[in-house]
Amino acid sequence: SLMITDDCINCDVCEPECPNDAIYMGAEIYEINPDKCTECVGHFDEPQCQQVCPVSCIPFNPERRETKEQLFAKFELLQAAK
Ligand code: SF4
Repeated sequence: SLMITDDCINCDVCEPECPNDAIYMGAEIYEINPDKCTECVGHFDEPQCQQVCPVSCIPFNPERRETKEQLFAKFELLQAAK
């Protein structure tokens, strides 16, 4: 999963780009639900939020490092739940 750091300026541009609806406005800044973030695996070659964030505050979540296979399995689970 990716995560949003407290460098976030609440510019709103990442939220609509997420194909998994994993990004939401939290208490103070935008946040990413790690159970929904596939790092865009299954949808795009690169994480779309990282491409648009003007302050580059969306790194990999060190507590939720996942392989491409694990991310693709999450993608399939999310698709099945739709
Ligand atoms: Fe925050 Fe970056 Fe998303 Fe803008 S694009 S809301 S700065 S995480």
